Amino acid sequence: MQYQSTRDKTQKVSSSQAILQGLSAEGGLFVPEQLPKLSEPMLECMIGQDYIQRAQTILEGFLTDFSPEEIESCLKGAYHVQKFSGSQIAPLARLGENAYLLELWHGPTCAFKDMALQLLPRLMTVAAQKSGDGKEIVILVATSGDTGKAALEGFCDVPGIRIVVFYPEEGVSPLQKLQMATQEGENVFVAAIHGNFDDAQSGVKKLFCDPQTIQMLQKQNRVFSSANSINWGRLLPQIVYYVSAYCDLVRDEQIALGDPINVCVPTGNFGNILAAYYAKQMGLPIRKLICASNKNNVLTDFIQTGVYDRNRPFYATTSPSMDILISSNLERLLFHLMDEDDAAVRDLMEGLKTNGRYTVSQQVLNRLQADFDGGYCDEAETAATIKRLFDTYSYLCDTHTAVAVSVYESYLSQTGDDTKTVIASTANPFKFPHAVLSALGAEAQDADEFEVARKLEELSGNEMPEQLAGLREKPVRFTESFAKDRMNDALAKALQNV
Ligand SMILES: *Cc1c(COP(=O)(O)O)cnc(C)c1O
Repeated sequence: MQYQSTRDKTQKVSSSQAILQGLSAEGGLFVPEQLPKLSEPMLECMIGQDYIQRAQTILEGFLTDFSPEEIESCLKGAYHVQKFSGSQIAPLARLGENAYLLELWHGPTCAFKDMALQLLPRLMTVAAQKSGDGKEIVILVATSGDTGKAALEGFCDVPGIRIVVFYPEEGVSPLQKLQMATQEGENVFVAAIHGNFDDAQSGVKKLFCDPQTIQMLQKQNRVFSSANSINWGRLLPQIVYYVSAYCDLVRDEQIALGDPINVCVPTGNFGNILAAYYAKQMGLPIRKLICASNKNNVLTDFIQTGVYDRNRPFYATTSPSMDILISSNLERLLFHLMDEDDAAVRDLMEGLKTNGRYTVSQQVLNRLQADFDGGYCDEAETAATIKRLFDTYSYLCDTHTAVAVSVYESYLSQTGDDTKTVIASTANPFKFPHAVLSALGAEAQDADEFEVARKLEELSGNEMPEQLAGLREKPVRFTESFAKDRMNDALAKALQNV
């Protein structure tokens, strides 16, 4: 199977190239030329299987230049029990009559990005061996918190790869900072930047394109790559858990094989929900994809009107991983909805770049609305949902998950659609202890995060996961910070030191 670029269909690469390159040369994203089909007999066969076996079937359909043995060894390395608490990898928790939470946060950093970032580095290593040039890969990441830590954990001590993470000194929570600063591994480097997330991100983009830096890397027999959420290797692992959740529902006799479900996803960069869209296109019986946003509701407006407009205030919310005004992965969906018209995608993306907005045709809007519904929820409603779930079901959820639950509940009351619904739960509540504790009505003002977490444990009867609680005792390894125009110094240091 070949992969083509959303902005120039003549650019075709193999799956291993798509994963290694991340982005196509002219700026487009790689998408598969056709999708492997998921037939009912295949689903039936998967019902009795475990997560890794189900993943094997799906990945083999997409990674046609990987051998089954290569895929299996990547999967076994990524999803073994020492990394994911509990053997189920992505278990479902029932929530009332018709809803189920798909818990995607049992991995090493307690957030859903582990689901992809535990697998991507392993796929990348195999892909690099195939390209056979013997170069060491240097991964650069700019992070506003969650991605950086999940990437560090995923790439930690992976042979043939180094990783350098830049985060804005004032832009991440103390817990997130501690997660990164205590990172273990011989091939990792973490640098704080004086500036905000945009400074870190544009600094990374500059390094990627800087001729002097590229020349330096070439001399060292190294090459850059990227682990951000537009890499196909991050999307693919996310398709698996929607299929797996469906199989679990059939296995547990919540639905019959062939029954449709809905899927509701707390959305930022549109990666997680796009994976569910691909599962649907492959044949998984999904009726509606419900796109949940926080107060940064650019996607809600888009789904309702067909106008994507980023010219609006940016809100910092208690669900920071969804504070995004440009959802990069939407480009892939547009490509599919517009009959793979690469020139038209190019025009829309040009419009986004120059005017910050674009409008799709009525036909595209109709297609969009056939698959998607969208809604958003403000800060007060997010907090109220956390409290309501805890009071009603004794279930403690994080802020991102709460946004999705609230949007689902509005959808249900507006449409009366009582199809069984899988709601993606994207973070462990102890990752955001301040917001969750205060949602429950307790005072959490000035205390440090471990103190707040202790109070949350007391109040909820839940325990802070060891991956987070253990940070307190871990030695801090990375303390250096750099001016935003000196990120090349950080890189040089990372490449000589580690
Ligand atoms: C990244 C993230 C999201 C958003 O996922 P996208 O794939 O970017 O839409 C939601 N919740 C949490 C906790 C996240 O870390």
